[in-house]
Amino acid sequence: MFLTVPDSLINQLLGTAAQTEGKLYGYRYDDGDVVQIRGILEASGAYLGRWYRSPVPPTTELAPEEIVLNIDDELPDQVAGWQSKATGWETISCNVIRLHTDYASRMHGIFEVSSLANTCIAVIGLGSGGSVVASQLARCGVGQMRLVDFDRLKVHNIARHACGLHDIGRYKTRALRDLLYDISPAITVETYELNVLGHEDQLATIVTGCDLVVVATDHEDSKLAVNTVCWPRGIPAIYAAAYNRAFGGDIFRAIPSEGACYACFQTVIADFFGPPPAATQDFSLGYEDPARMEELLAQPGLGVDVGMIALLMARMALLTLLRDKQNTLPDLPTNWLLFGNRAEWIFQQPLESLFIDVPKNAQCPVCNYSAFVAESLKMSEQEAAAEASDILADLPVIQLSILPNQT
Ligand SMILES: [Zn+2]
Repeated sequence: MFLTVPDSLINQLLGTAAQTEGKLYGYRYDDGDVVQIRGILEASGAYLGRWYRSPVPPTTELAPEEIVLNIDDELPDQVAGWQSKATGWETISCNVIRLHTDYASRMHGIFEVSSLANTCIAVIGLGSGGSVVASQLARCGVGQMRLVDFDRLKVHNIARHACGLHDIGRYKTRALRDLLYDISPAITVETYELNVLGHEDQLATIVTGCDLVVVATDHEDSKLAVNTVCWPRGIPAIYAAAYNRAFGGDIFRAIPSEGACYACFQTVIADFFGPPPAATQDFSLGYEDPARMEELLAQPGLGVDVGMIALLMARMALLTLLRDKQNTLPDLPTNWLLFGNRAEWIFQQPLESLFIDVPKNAQCPVCNYSAFVAESLKMSEQEAAAEASDILADLPVIQLSILPNQT
């Protein structure tokens, strides 16, 4: 038997000096081969046995298969385990799990995982891309996550999604939240079942305080809405798209004040290679209009292909979060990364990466508003505001009243 107990529980038990014994709850797996002690409350799982604050073996008679832990104040990391057998007490090696100190041990020397403990990100769109990005960033130690999606998990999602079959029917937000809590010992997750289109005020509230926003909706209008909200607030955002049948995809990063925003990106992208593959829009159709999901389903893409784009997005997100922190990972050279799973369109060979720096649009209505107003209206920002104010002042005031036959 492999018996585990988290060090946080041992510390909790030793922290209550007045209490010397109690019940233990948790889970048995693989016909009892693994027993995980999770806590001292019924909500922590099934009843497993008892704990005693004593360095000596138990004297109490318990039912067969019950577990006993002897916790010694002098040796808190050497917990003695016992199991009740017909022949008497049998000792069990007890593995104390150091969740917080050991969790990131395989990432030491690359970056300090604890440096992301106070980092907050929002992930908008929790499909095959967003769910993978969120789960990867949770593994990197991101401490706070805000998940935004209004859709539920369906059978056809699962082959390309981080969540599983037992989550079918659940909101993607809540299913992914549970997965993230199962992945990271120190994460806090908030969920919002919200369509960001038409709800920019709520979106602004959600992203306020975030260090980064990950936009994985594959819907141009929602990406532009996020850009309009994030850029003026100085919040970096990363946008990804998967092309038709996921033959490739791209990731664009907008860091306010440094360069191009997503609106710039949209206007200049056509200058590079002509219009992006038309089928890119197929993903948008399904996201915006669930009735067209059948059409979306007609555009298959391998989970491994979509996953490549998602992992690159996670990589760019991590590098962005680490920009002001000590790390050994060099940042990407440009704000736009294109990746081809197959040799199609502009990609000469499979698994090809292209790096392109997207310049700022000199008359961008989002990140260069003054120039935009000057170019399109031939007046200054102040003159435009004054004229708008005059127009509003001349509008008749509409009186609203309750209809008389409504009580
Ligand atoms: Zn712009």
